[in-house]
Amino acid sequence: MSVAGGLAFAVARARVHNCETLQVFTKNASQWRARPLQVDEIAAFRGAIEQSDIHPVVAHASYLINIATMNPGLRAQSVAALEDEVHRAEALGLLGVVLHPGARLTAPIDEAIGLVGDALQRVLGSRPNGKTMILLEHTAGQGTTLGSTFEEIAGMLDAAKGMPRIGVCLDTCHLLASGYDLCSLEGYDATFTRFQQLVGLDRLKVFHLNDSRKPCGSRVDRHEHIGKGCIGIEPFRWLMNDPRFAHLPMILETEKTARDARGKGLVEIDPLDEMNLGTLRSLLA
Ligand SMILES: [Zn+2]
Repeated sequence: MSVAGGLAFAVARARVHNCETLQVFTKNASQWRARPLQVDEIAAFRGAIEQSDIHPVVAHASYLINIATMNPGLRAQSVAALEDEVHRAEALGLLGVVLHPGARLTAPIDEAIGLVGDALQRVLGSRPNGKTMILLEHTAGQGTTLGSTFEEIAGMLDAAKGMPRIGVCLDTCHLLASGYDLCSLEGYDATFTRFQQLVGLDRLKVFHLNDSRKPCGSRVDRHEHIGKGCIGIEPFRWLMNDPRFAHLPMILETEKTARDARGKGLVEIDPLDEMNLGTLRSLLA
């Protein structure tokens, strides 16, 4: 949900849709710097969450962060920005910060995985009493993006030397695009069996539910409305009713209704969000 108007407005937006979980950006996702969160803004957000049934809440980190890069300047900037993201999320009492592991560019895969592990140890190691997790998001595998196989995700967890407070976020669009075929029941079962073997279901903390505009193995990350893309409706029914995932937050990142088509109110029903939520809720047995 958008935080336009202040972080507490995202909670109000989630409430008009009867959401039970919420994902926000705690700063502008396409800028490095942000002013520190103000005490009253933190209090307003925490108060709004306390008065709601929304739990857990996660943040999504800035897209600029790349902790897989060998470039020392970008790397230092990325580690500092990730520290700030975790610091902000901690102040807000969030479960975790969803993070794309980054792009390795010319670095060999093993080296890039080591760099990610290193950065995770530094950021989490500097906050021994923190509660907020870093949630590594499995990726579609576009370009030299790291983290599109469960082997690579497992490698990053190993490289972080088993640090607690590292979880994993699985995005259904990224799963399909990276080549995990969720569309048949056999493919669905094989995907999560493989994840369990290589990463472990205990590390899985969040789902992003998005359909995919591009087919299985395309390695292109284009989200589509639920049931209207290459995944289709049935795999979402299996996910919504899978007892292994009943306790996990499931978050939409589908296209929202254009602002000017929605009127001027700060908090109002978004018809496209309502459509996708309605589709998913109708699948619950
Ligand atoms: Zn996602």
